[in-house]
Amino acid sequence: MSTYQELIAKQRADQSEGFLISVRRLSWSAERLSAERERRLRELLQWSFDHSDFWRERLAGHDLSTFTEADLPSLPILTKKELMANFDRVMTKPNLTLVRVNDHVNHLDGDAYLDDEYRAVVTSGTGGTRGIFVYGWSEWITYALIATRWRTRSGEDPFAPVGTFFATNTKHVSGALHAFSRDFAGDGPLAVTHLPASLPIPEIVVGLNTARPTVLTGYASVIHLLALEALAGRLTIEPNWVSTNGEQLTDDIKRAVRAAWDVEVYDTWGCTEGVFAFPCRPGRPMHLPDDLAIIEPVDENNDPVPYGQPAAKILLTNLYNKTQPLIRYEINDSMTIIDEPCECGSGHRRITDIRGRFDTFFEYENGTIIHRLGMEGVLLGDPNVVEMQVTQTHGGMAVSLVTQGECDTAVLRNNLIEMLIRSGLSDPDVTVVKVESLERMWSGKLRQFEPLAR
Ligand SMILES: [Zn+2]
Repeated sequence: MSTYQELIAKQRADQSEGFLISVRRLSWSAERLSAERERRLRELLQWSFDHSDFWRERLAGHDLSTFTEADLPSLPILTKKELMANFDRVMTKPNLTLVRVNDHVNHLDGDAYLDDEYRAVVTSGTGGTRGIFVYGWSEWITYALIATRWRTRSGEDPFAPVGTFFATNTKHVSGALHAFSRDFAGDGPLAVTHLPASLPIPEIVVGLNTARPTVLTGYASVIHLLALEALAGRLTIEPNWVSTNGEQLTDDIKRAVRAAWDVEVYDTWGCTEGVFAFPCRPGRPMHLPDDLAIIEPVDENNDPVPYGQPAAKILLTNLYNKTQPLIRYEINDSMTIIDEPCECGSGHRRITDIRGRFDTFFEYENGTIIHRLGMEGVLLGDPNVVEMQVTQTHGGMAVSLVTQGECDTAVLRNNLIEMLIRSGLSDPDVTVVKVESLERMWSGKLRQFEPLAR
C-alpha cells in the first residue's frame, strides 16, 4: 500500500501531464465535439452494460454500437433517489459498495483515497437528497481539469496565487478539489489560499491581506462582501481575476467588483456529478464542457427543451466516469442553453441563464451570514440523513430531516449550534425534527434552504 503523499504526488504529476491537452480541447469545433461525444457515449454504454447489473437491465434491447445522442430520450432518466437506492448495482466495481464508500466518507479527516485509487464526495445538491459520487484515478484528474483548465485560456498565469472561498470540508467537492490542487504549481509555497466561506469576513480579510492572491474565486455573496471591504479600504489586495460559483451573480455584485478592483467578474457553474462550465470573456455566457458530458435541457416532464428556451432542469450523461456511470442523470438546476457559435471560436455550447441557486445563504440581523455549505457540512456528516429542509428563524433555524436507521438529532442540533456560534450568532435557537416526508414546491423541487424574507 502506498502512502497518501506518494499517491497524491503521482496523481498531481499525471494531472500536470494532461493539462495542455485538456486546455486545447476548449477550442474544438462543434463538429469535433459532437464526434468525440458519440465515441465516448458508445464506449460508456457498452462498458456500463458489461460491468453493471443496473445498467445491463436498463440498456437491454438497445443497439449500443450504433447508439447516438439523438437516441438518448429512448432511455429512462436517473434520479438521485434511484441512484442511491441502487448504488451497489450501479457501480461497475463490485467492491465499491455503499456501505464501504459511506464508511470511507464518514471517516474522512482531510483528503484521502479509498483503495489507493478512488475519491468519494457527498452532495445534497438542490434536490435535498444525499448523494455520493465516486471517481477513479484518471476520472478525478479529468474532473479537476474540467474545473481548472480554463484559467489560462486568456493568457493568465497558471501559477498566479489564488484565493478561494468555498467549503473546506473534504467530503464536499470544493474541499476535495482544493486538497488535490493546492500544490499543483510545484513544491513552492502554497499557491492557493483556501478560506472557508463560513469564516467571519474580518478573518478572511486578514488572511487575504497576508496571502495577497491575484485570483479570487468564491461564492458570489462572499465576493460581494470582499469587494465592499476593499471599497472601505480594509482589504488591500489587487486581484486581476475574479470569478463566482454556486450562487446567483447579481448586477449589484458585478458593480461592486468593478468599483473595487476595476475587473469584470466571471460567473461559473459546476456540480459534484462531474461538470464545470467554463467562462468565456467577461460579459459573455459561460461554455459547457461539451467534450466530456452530454447535457440535455428538459422541462418538468423530461421532454426536450429547444436551445434558447429556459429549461426546468438538465439531464447529465457523464462521459468520463466509468466507475459510477451517470446516464441521463437528473439535475434540478434551471438554465437556458444556446448552441450558436461564440465569438471566441470555441464550439462548446453556452449557458445564458441559471436559476435555482438563490436560497443558498441565511443572513441574520447582526450581519452574520451562514452559507448552505456550512449547514450541509453539519447535516451530511450523519450518513443516515436522507433529505433535509432548513428554514431560517429570527434567532437560528428549524431543521426537518428524513432519516434512515439511527440518527441522533440531539448531536446534530448541538453541532449546528456550535457552527452558528462560531460564525457570529450568539445564543442561537435551533430545532431539529425527524419527519416522514418533506413538502415540495409545485415544480416537485424541494425548497431545501428557506431564508427569512428580507
Ligand atoms: Zn466563448
